[in-house]
Amino acid sequence: MSDDNKLIDDSPIPDTPVIPAQLEGDAVIQFRCHKDIDCFNACCKNIDIMLTPYDILRLKKRLGITSTEFLRQYTEPFEFARNSVGGVKYKPKEGTNECQFVTEEGCSVYEDRPTSCRYYPVGLLSTRRQDENFDRASYALVTEDHCHGHFEDRKLTIDEYREEQGLEDYDELGRAWRQLILKVKSAGPAIGNMSKTSLKFFFMACYDMDRFREFVKSEGFGYTYDVDDELMQQLLTDDLELLKFADRMIRQIMFAEESIPMKKDAMETHLANRGKNKLEGKHDDIDRPSMESYELPVDGEAEIEARKKEDKDK
Ligand code: SF4
Ligand code: SF4
Repeated sequence: MSDDNKLIDDSPIPDTPVIPAQLEGDAVIQFRCHKDIDCFNACCKNIDIMLTPYDILRLKKRLGITSTEFLRQYTEPFEFARNSVGGVKYKPKEGTNECQFVTEEGCSVYEDRPTSCRYYPVGLLSTRRQDENFDRASYALVTEDHCHGHFEDRKLTIDEYREEQGLEDYDELGRAWRQLILKVKSAGPAIGNMSKTSLKFFFMACYDMDRFREFVKSEGFGYTYDVDDELMQQLLTDDLELLKFADRMIRQIMFAEESIPMKKDAMETHLANRGKNKLEGKHDDIDRPSMESYELPVDGEAEIEARKKEDKDK
């Protein structure tokens, strides 16, 4: 396999009919999408759309519901790799493959549509080489028969298209999560078998912000982590601060990238348990003191279990 193919394999973009050519932001594409085109809405009637944590924040805010309600009603979970961390995709309208937000007039959540919808027909390839510790963005053009926008008389660069689609904020605020997914993927078995609690925690901290906020407010969290009043106030009121903090917590819990101070007693227990685990060769919840006091139900868990059972029965 060539290096180029390896990079595309590492992309968090789910399987798409991507032309395997990586493009830079200054590459020129020919494309225009508009309401009078004969394929209007065709792309929204056959969806496979992965959501980023920032997509979920925007959409749940727009709909005026909690992240928990949003996940339950509009998404379904998937695993990035077998027994690995989870992601969420749009759940189509029942019995169809149509987006729940598509209407005759177009997208009913247009101003808050997710990253993938904004990028289409460009695919973002967030990639990382094995010998580098930073990610690179490149792009690929997706050409599908149903999309006639490629025949419209308009040429522009990918950077111009990104700007037109309001992608700068989405890229910026989705970047930490994309890096996290790449990190999990490139770490592979090196991070061990992640415990069920870790996987649930990852899911909650990435996608279910309102439930994550409850966790931050919980006694177990207060007992374990040393967060000053100013930051705590931000976490309780500001979704974007909470999003950034969730990334720090995941890195601390799953990759031992410690950036959140722990209280003295909790730190001693943590270090003692870590030493004990190392001696016993364990990689489990005991390394995460605050998790024990928090029961983490996770939407979609039943579906993931059912899918694993199906795979096993095959
Ligand atoms: S969110 Fe909007 S643009 Fe995206 S698939 Fe649904 S209807 Fe189409
Ligand atoms: S199929 Fe292509 S051109 Fe048609 S509405 Fe969707 S993105 Fe626009």
